[in-house]
This record gives sequence, C-alpha cells and structure tokens, in this order.
Amino acid sequence: MINPPATVRDASFLHEVISETPGGERIVHCMQCGSCAGSCPNGPDMDHTPRVLFALIAAGQRKKVLSSNTMWCCVSCYACTSRCPQNIPVTDIMYALKRISLREGMANTTDAPALAQTFTGLLDRYGRSFEFGLASRYYLFNKPLSMLRMGPLGLRMFTRGRMSLRPSKIRQLDQLQAIIEKARQLGGTA
Ligand code: SF4
Ligand code: SF4
Repeated sequence: MINPPATVRDASFLHEVISETPGGERIVHCMQCGSCAGSCPNGPDMDHTPRVLFALIAAGQRKKVLSSNTMWCCVSCYACTSRCPQNIPVTDIMYALKRISLREGMANTTDAPALAQTFTGLLDRYGRSFEFGLASRYYLFNKPLSMLRMGPLGLRMFTRGRMSLRPSKIRQLDQLQAIIEKARQLGGTA
C-alpha cells in the first residue's frame, strides 16, 4: 500500500523535487484528495496518476517515480493545477520530474523523451516547429522501420499543403536562443 505524504520515510527525493520546482514546497500539503487525478485527461494512460505519484515521492520511491511514464503523458493542460485545493503546482512538478528523469537516464519506458528532445532541438535551431524534420529525425534515429509505415501519411500531408519540406526560421532567432540559453542555465540543464 502507498503511504500518504504524512508518513514520509525518505525525504531526500522529496527535497530534490522541491528544489527543482518553483513553488514545489507546496507538495508537502498534498492531502491525497485526488482532484488532480480526476481532472487529468491522460490519467488512464499513466502508470500512476498525479495523486499516486505524489504519494510515491513522499514515500521516497525515486526509481519508481522517475522510470514511470506519468510525467511523459502530461500534456500541460494545467487542469490539475487549477483544481488543486492546496495550490500545488502539479504541472510544474511534472516538468521537474521530466528533467530529473532525463538527467538520470531513467526516461526509458516511453518514446516521449526522444520526441521531446527532437522537438526542442528544432526549436533551438529554427525558433519554431518543423513537422517534416521532427517526424523524419525522430523516426530515423529512434524507429527507422516505422518510418516506412509513416511515409504515405507524410506524402498525403505534403500534397495537401499541410507540411513543408523546408524549415523556416523566425525573425530575431538570436534573441530567442539567448532566452533559451539563460533558461537552461537557470534550470541547470545543458
Ligand atoms: S489535487 Fe492537490 S491536494 Fe489533491 S491529490 Fe492532487 S496534488 Fe494532492
Ligand atoms: S497538466 Fe498534466 S498531469 Fe495535470 S491534468 Fe493536465 S495532463 Fe494531467
């Protein structure tokens, strides 16, 4: 049985999550009401709902939390955050868990990290998404065989003008890159 936050056994992981999240100290006020889980559109796909995840964090279940798919199923809709009666920044904690999980090499139960890294790489380079580049790089480096299956879909999108074969950069890309670089320095990620 998963213990609630009131019965914290190993506080080091809890402190780690708190230090990674602006306002994260509010997690200790989680009362396991389940409003976050009930609001989450992706709860059924998650290994653990946000409510259970927070109980696991409080219980010091570092490996179980960081290797779960929960934070990677989060689509940042903020429904949980807006409904949490304790004003816990649930969505921001999901982001913190993604960062820790990537850093520790524990994000290996889902394709989402590879997709996210390909996506952010394109943002770094062009300042906006580039669907053709995203799909081709992601499949080429992660699922080369699936690339053949996705080919017809890509062709249909291209012929209907829904996908460009060439990326375009935003204006003043250098300013966005400076902001991203600063955010990475502050967030402690390379
Ligand atoms: S809604 Fe808030 S208090 Fe309730 S379980 Fe979720 S995080 Fe905890
Ligand atoms: S922000 Fe993430 S965890 Fe919260 S309700 Fe939306 S998908 Fe679920």
